[in-house]
Amino acid sequence: MKIVILSRNAKLYSTRRLVEAAQARGHEMVVLDHLKCDLIIEAGQPAIMYKGALVTGIDAVIPRIGASVTFYGTAVVRQFEMMKVKSAVGSQAIVRSRDKLRTMQNLSRAGLGMPKTAFTNYSKDSKQLINQVGGAPVVIKLLEGTQGLGVVLAETSKAAESVIEAFHNLKARIIVQEFISESKGADIRAFIVNGEVVGAMKRQGRDGEFRSNLHRGGIGTLIKLSRAEKAAALLAAKTLDLAVAGVDMLQSKRGPLILEVNSSPGLEGIEKATNLDIASKIIQYTEALVQKKKAKQKQRE
Ligand code: ADP
Ligand code: MG
Repeated sequence: MKIVILSRNAKLYSTRRLVEAAQARGHEMVVLDHLKCDLIIEAGQPAIMYKGALVTGIDAVIPRIGASVTFYGTAVVRQFEMMKVKSAVGSQAIVRSRDKLRTMQNLSRAGLGMPKTAFTNYSKDSKQLINQVGGAPVVIKLLEGTQGLGVVLAETSKAAESVIEAFHNLKARIIVQEFISESKGADIRAFIVNGEVVGAMKRQGRDGEFRSNLHRGGIGTLIKLSRAEKAAALLAAKTLDLAVAGVDMLQSKRGPLILEVNSSPGLEGIEKATNLDIASKIIQYTEALVQKKKAKQKQRE
């Protein structure tokens, strides 16, 4: 098969690992920077140009779209889909997963546990908002933040009010969330491929840091998920229609609470913590997608 990886940089760990794993399985790999793809749109003939040449003969695409380029990146994935190229993760699912509010709404509808969360359109009454989620301490998050940047713990009501006001003055969209103290600066990342948990790690934030993101200095270690954690992670990925997903959860007194679901989860942390070859799982899933499509085509002939 000829597989495209959409990635800004071929040297990134996740990209390198996917290329390596696919080549080991005999595939031809092409890394394209989605920001350098031109999309040609006309009736019934969608095409992609890359550095002046038409992109042709592609069987599948594996998107690795960073949060800062969701709009253009997903447009490129959509163009591949229009060209009948199978994508490991659908363009629509990526778009939906990038919006924390929409994600929480969908997960809540599916009955999944989550920290109590409030959203406001620049409400004047931040005190009431804080009370809605059970009072201070609360966590305040930028709707479109990643890597722990834009996530603030406000220990007191006063601090929370100031932070909410500051964000609102900047016209930044935020959610206010119940702080889950019993997770003690740790969370769980479950890596899902095709309806299966293929690896899981616990991430512990640095001393005195409530955010466990590896980018903020957190450390990942192998963990065995409880039955409830596994079920929650699988349902979250399914609800958001993500065949490849990183589901982040907090361990709490009332069971696993979903924080977010990542549609381009990094491979470095999870492969190093678990010592598992997760890149090959993604490639195997991509192969299966293409085989399924070919079988359907045959049936029609
Ligand atoms: P980001 O998208 O920036 O990673 P998250 O919502 O995942 O934002 O939050 C970053 C980290 O902060 C989480 O991994 C977790 O360790 C911690 N955290 C987030 N929300 C809460 C909460 N409600 N209670 C306790 N810790 C939290
Ligand atoms: Mg996170």
